[in-house]
Amino acid sequence: MSIHYFGEKRILRLSFVIILLNNVTRKDKISYGCILKALILEDKRKLVLKNVDTLSFSDSEVLIDIEVAGIGGSEYLGFNNPGIRPLPHIMGHGITGLTPEGKRVAIYPLQGCGKCVYCKDNRVQLCDKWTLIGVHCDGGFAQKVAIPRELLFELPSDLTWEQSAFIEPFANSMNAWEISQASRENSIAIIGAGSLGLGLVACAHAEQCQVIEVSDLSVSRLDAAKCLGATKSAESLDGQFDIVFDTVGTQETRALAIQLSKKGGKSVFLGFATPMFDVNFAELIRHQKQLLGSFVYSKEQFKKAMYLAKNCKSEWVSNLTFTDIEDQLEKYLNNDFSTVKAVLRPNQ
Ligand SMILES: [Zn+2]
Repeated sequence: MSIHYFGEKRILRLSFVIILLNNVTRKDKISYGCILKALILEDKRKLVLKNVDTLSFSDSEVLIDIEVAGIGGSEYLGFNNPGIRPLPHIMGHGITGLTPEGKRVAIYPLQGCGKCVYCKDNRVQLCDKWTLIGVHCDGGFAQKVAIPRELLFELPSDLTWEQSAFIEPFANSMNAWEISQASRENSIAIIGAGSLGLGLVACAHAEQCQVIEVSDLSVSRLDAAKCLGATKSAESLDGQFDIVFDTVGTQETRALAIQLSKKGGKSVFLGFATPMFDVNFAELIRHQKQLLGSFVYSKEQFKKAMYLAKNCKSEWVSNLTFTDIEDQLEKYLNNDFSTVKAVLRPNQ
């Protein structure tokens, strides 16, 4: 089976190729025609490396040679349970790469209708028609991807490809940070020192917060958190904090986030490990605690994250080939988070 790009519409069935070839002659389409490698999610826990045929794409899109495709929670949870992803599907939404002119770019992966109150307010994630590249349509687990021109942002010249892997997760962190309205005077606790947690450490450090405490079970991630400015990094947290961020999203970490927040404090939730959670509302009401959800980011936050990512070290990134990906996803699903950040380097 081959997959053809045709604008945002994916044509999967070979029988449709004739229709597609007829449409390539339309003025707004560019015939490209190249064979590239892509990792196809065909079913739950079924990833297959295939040659796919990128036949055409709109002239408002740019064909990007992918240098880095981040592997994070979305990917290992999607591998385990494809959910809303249309199968077969190419995952990967934290993408950086090269334009045909050789410009180094990061891809902002969100799109909305552009017309609703949320889109106008720069909160595309709340648009009824929001889509995410690598979830609703094909993404970065491939050698190339066709992307609308307005979603491309040029990378700072001094950012390495490895550092660019932190842009997308750090944009998530930036949104959570801004939603929390944290200030320099606040004490900050962060549950989980994966990329989201590290981004929050970088935000808190940039704000010059004096108390930035982080918990994780991975020594390498705790070391990275220290390097980014955590004042304490340990396997567990205790004490009371003005603002607690949960980047994990299990029953335990959500309960912990509420427990660690002071009376009148805030808990901000970014982690997706489980969908449901029982809350002790009696305690919440009496202690006037606030619970806040945070999901993805605006273009502005994405741009800010490019500069925040400069604080990361290239050696924190594990560069993987197509054939390494499934093992890495299985590691994550088996709670092995020893790698600070794993990425696919599809053209290496
Ligand atoms: Zn909208």
